[in-house]
Amino acid sequence: MTLPSQDDLWRDFPRTATEFEARFATEEDCRAYWIKARWGGKPACARCKSARVWTIREGTTFECADCGHQTSLTSGTLLEKTHKPLKMWFRAVFEISTRRTGISGKDLQRIMGFGSYKTAWTWLHKLRAALVRSDSEPLGPFVQVDEALVGGKGGPHKELVLVAAEASGRVRLAHAENNDATTLKRFADAEIAPDARVMTDGHAGYSGKSLGKRSHEAKVQTRTERRESDAIQSCHWTISLLKRWLLGTHAGAIHRKHLQAYLDEYAFRHNRRKTNGVGRIAARVIERLVARAPLTMRSLIDDTRACRRFRQPELTV
Ligand SMILES: [Zn+2]
Repeated sequence: MTLPSQDDLWRDFPRTATEFEARFATEEDCRAYWIKARWGGKPACARCKSARVWTIREGTTFECADCGHQTSLTSGTLLEKTHKPLKMWFRAVFEISTRRTGISGKDLQRIMGFGSYKTAWTWLHKLRAALVRSDSEPLGPFVQVDEALVGGKGGPHKELVLVAAEASGRVRLAHAENNDATTLKRFADAEIAPDARVMTDGHAGYSGKSLGKRSHEAKVQTRTERRESDAIQSCHWTISLLKRWLLGTHAGAIHRKHLQAYLDEYAFRHNRRKTNGVGRIAARVIERLVARAPLTMRSLIDDTRACRRFRQPELTV
């Protein structure tokens, strides 16, 4: 089974709302795209891989001519067991992809006309799961590392976020328990190229123990020095934009259990801010919806505050 190249899917995806409405006017249009993204246009039996299948249940399922197994279009994907048409999912994907600042559960509920907020919330979390680690190339060659406390508006709790940023490039964010050398090492090993040059402030956790063999410069700056030439400016900008985004789009109302999902969404949007065309982003999200294993309602709710980034097994595309 060969998947179509990402470029083909991107090229085929609408860039404007008008194009989108025309391209995905019917459920069949969406199914055809989904089949292309999942099976390269030629659906195969999930059990025996036979390509001799026919559609049943109004096109939502394939039955295998060789073994009789029935494969649903969405089984084994993030959209497994969805009761809503793909057309609605495509619409939601388009909405979250086209809005530069993202979308809240309340917004999505209104746009999709959902009766309950819970449905909108579940959809958003599935869509966010499709944004997780969709860009896995480690950061380099010049990387700044810092940490920030976010959230806690109206409450006593602030959550620690580790930040790694290329100078005017990509960022990675991780919700972490603490910033000791062991945690920082896991973050660095997951996100920063082994030959990268790292710039940090004077925090003692940044050392050979956490950064390994990477070349490292720790710069202790006064406020005045920082104003003139901030050594970790990319991190500071990222942190300030992140805080504004959390407060603006989401009114700061984010449970710490879900903070990592929001951080992933932020990084996803930030790292693609120069990508021309929302089509590319939407196509990428659909590609991930297809490629990722289902999330149960339980796993959506039960994520612990331990840095999810470090625990979640990644499916390779
Ligand atoms: Zn079969």
